[in-house]
Amino acid sequence: MVPVIALVGRPNVGKSTLFNRLTRSRDALVADFAGLTRDRKYGEARWQGRNYIVIDTGGISGDEEGIDAKMAEQSLLAIEEADIVLFLVDARAGLTAADQMIAEHLRKRNKTSFLVANKIDTIDPDVARAEFAPVGMGELQPIAAAHGRGVNNLLEAVLGHI
Ligand code: GDP
Ligand code: MG
Repeated sequence: MVPVIALVGRPNVGKSTLFNRLTRSRDALVADFAGLTRDRKYGEARWQGRNYIVIDTGGISGDEEGIDAKMAEQSLLAIEEADIVLFLVDARAGLTAADQMIAEHLRKRNKTSFLVANKIDTIDPDVARAEFAPVGMGELQPIAAAHGRGVNNLLEAVLGHI
């Protein structure tokens, strides 16, 4: 079976940037506007000869009304479809209540999840580790999706053992 990996997190943390890097396509919409990718989007990717499917999602803001509610709904569906969730947080923005809410949902669903701190080009990884320790989701995977830093280590941690 080809593993399915969902990218989940608040809007604007860099999910689509990572999706594009993993799928090497420009298909997922990357924007400076929070929440522009409203539906979930599937891409095929390959790492060290292993194929996997990656799902980009619009994001969960924790403040769901109107179109935001639809986005969150799509994110929840993606979590159900996934074998593994990459839970992205924004190292620059720091830990938010919405991050904690998403973590709680993933725990409830008992999903294999990895805590990924993006935008690590702007923050010392050790500072990010301390900042996101309260999430309680194992070792933080620091990456800069925009530059590719840490992405190989992340894939090693995620796909290396399956
Ligand atoms: P999404 O809403 O989670 O899909 O986030 P996007 O991928 O659209 O990215 C949101 C913003 O964060 C954009 O302005 C990106 O250029 C920026 N961004 C994404 N990855 C990085 C990164 O590694 N470092 C920095 N500094 N900015 C990033
Ligand atoms: Mg997006």
